[in-house]
Amino acid sequence: MTTRHHRRRLTTVFVAVLACAGLGTGVAGADAGFNRGTPGADGAGDSYYPQDGNGGYDVADYNLAINYTPATKQLIGTQRISARATQSLSSFDLDFSGLTVDSIDVDGRHAAFTRTGDHELVITPSRVLRRGEVFNARIQYHGVPEPISDPLLGDNGWQYSASGGAFAAGEPKSASTWYPVNDTPLDKATFHLAVTVPDEWGVIANGRERGTTKTANGTTHFWAEDTPAVPYMTTVAIEKWQFERSRLANGTPVVSAYAPGTPDATKTAEAKLPEILDFLSSKFGPYPVDAAGGIFLAEPIGFSLETLSRPIYSGRAGNVGTIVHENAHQWYGDTVAVDKWKDVCLNECFASYAQWLWSEAKDGKDLNARYLSQVATASDNFWSGKLYDMGPGNEFTAVYAKGPLALHALRNTIGEKAFDFVLKTWPALHRNGNASLPEFQAYAEKISHQNLKGFFDAWFYGNTKPAPAYLYPGTLKPTA
Ligand SMILES: [Zn+2]
Repeated sequence: MTTRHHRRRLTTVFVAVLACAGLGTGVAGADAGFNRGTPGADGAGDSYYPQDGNGGYDVADYNLAINYTPATKQLIGTQRISARATQSLSSFDLDFSGLTVDSIDVDGRHAAFTRTGDHELVITPSRVLRRGEVFNARIQYHGVPEPISDPLLGDNGWQYSASGGAFAAGEPKSASTWYPVNDTPLDKATFHLAVTVPDEWGVIANGRERGTTKTANGTTHFWAEDTPAVPYMTTVAIEKWQFERSRLANGTPVVSAYAPGTPDATKTAEAKLPEILDFLSSKFGPYPVDAAGGIFLAEPIGFSLETLSRPIYSGRAGNVGTIVHENAHQWYGDTVAVDKWKDVCLNECFASYAQWLWSEAKDGKDLNARYLSQVATASDNFWSGKLYDMGPGNEFTAVYAKGPLALHALRNTIGEKAFDFVLKTWPALHRNGNASLPEFQAYAEKISHQNLKGFFDAWFYGNTKPAPAYLYPGTLKPTA
């Protein structure tokens, strides 16, 4: 877990280290004698995507300026990364796909770089970065971004709209298609964005609006996400938007953007957002993000995504159920991100169950009846779907249908009171951090005073139909 408090404390300590380091400047071999540094790891160690993310540093902030020309699809970018070295670094990697890197400097000095593998940008600063040192890297680049194609989801990352606009969305990765990044859920950072586009285009991104300025190339739009974000949760979308702006009762700014041609039914659904966030807060604790809203594309892409503070919706998904789901992720998925991708049920099982909870509270749905009818008709194929360690490429399958059944069975196993308490307190426990499914099991056991090994083995770690004791706990009884 990387909290801002932790970072601030360390920064103070390292000012002193830097001052001492300054005395050695100009002494040949001083670095070699003191600490040579070693290359940062080229991956963050995910069991499915070992090359994604990197080791040796921790990003605090991305400050990205891009100039985008819809007519030519040319993107010109300057990325400024503030990070802290977690080891003495002779070189470090960023993840970056496709685009041409023009120049890099680190702390104002020219840095050498190479590109290796699928997406490694290897940067060698002019001097060793000492462990604990805060450093700033600036990367200038340009080109025509291209998405990553995914067999299940379609395109991920930077994508083009039929209108001539563009947008960024994708999971497990998206960011490296449009900016250099430490592309791992384990490194959350704040995200500041300045996007220059021709005057007729609008821009929406994560977080809060910070105004616009006129430039020679059009208009620059500023956005600031000050809630730490996992890179895939960042987005930008360029379109001839219709904006709706309001505030939640506590003053949190709401900005929603609709592509031309968005159906009225979508806008009616999004108008429920304050009620949806109130409802989700009643279940999951206070809303953990500093802004809210939605980005409603015209493109009928294969998914909608819980981009931080402002989910991005496929042109065919502007309905209340999807809005509930993506906003539930602000608690389950965003403020608490996965530790590893095999933990993705912590995102998807819970966001899917949030839709069950909404239908129970708002539409009077009998969730026991819903559960029992799904159990009665489920195929062997359904039960073979895994909710944990399902393998790369299978993250977004069983979690949506089997996931809410598992959580409804858990509710009946530990009882309403313990279940409500667990759901409502877990996000704050891991706020702005990461967590694993086994950690969630341990927390549910602690709160319920029950050993849930058999239950979690049957529902979450297994891939066969749970035994009757786990299938029909509490008030759940098989239909005759
Ligand atoms: Zn989801």
